Amino acid sequence: MDDPFWERALGELNAGRPDAALWAQCLDAAKGNKSIAEMQYLRDRAKQLADEQAELQRRKRQDEEDAQLSQAMRIVEGLPKGACSNCQAVVLLMAQTCPKCAVRFEPGGRHQVVPGGGAKKAAR
Ligand SMILES: [Zn+2]
Repeated sequence: MDDPFWERALGELNAGRPDAALWAQCLDAAKGNKSIAEMQYLRDRAKQLADEQAELQRRKRQDEEDAQLSQAMRIVEGLPKGACSNCQAVVLLMAQTCPKCAVRFEPGGRHQVVPGGGAKKAAR
C-alpha cells in the first residue's frame, strides 16, 4: 500500500519516536502487547495524519480566500471616490446609484457624484 501517512507512522515507530499520547493509548488498548499496539498505532496515526493534512489544506484554502477578499477590499479602497450630491455619502466615482440614499447618478441627471469625497481640498 502506497500511503504516505502510513509510511510516516511506520517511520515514527521505526525511529522509536511515536506520538506519545497515541502510543500510550494503543499500548493500553492492546493490554501491553507491543505488536498489537504497533498495528493499532499505524492505523490510528495514519488516520490522524490524514486528518491533519485535510485540516491544513482547508485552512490554506481559507487563508487564500481571505487574502483574495482583502485584496479586493484594498482595490475598492484605492478607487477614486466622491460624495453623493443628494446625501453626501462617500461613494465610488464610478457608482451608478448611491448605496445610502439610492438616487441614480446619470450624466446630466439631477444627482452626481461630486469628486473629492465631499471634503473640500485645498486649491491645487
Ligand atoms: Zn446619496
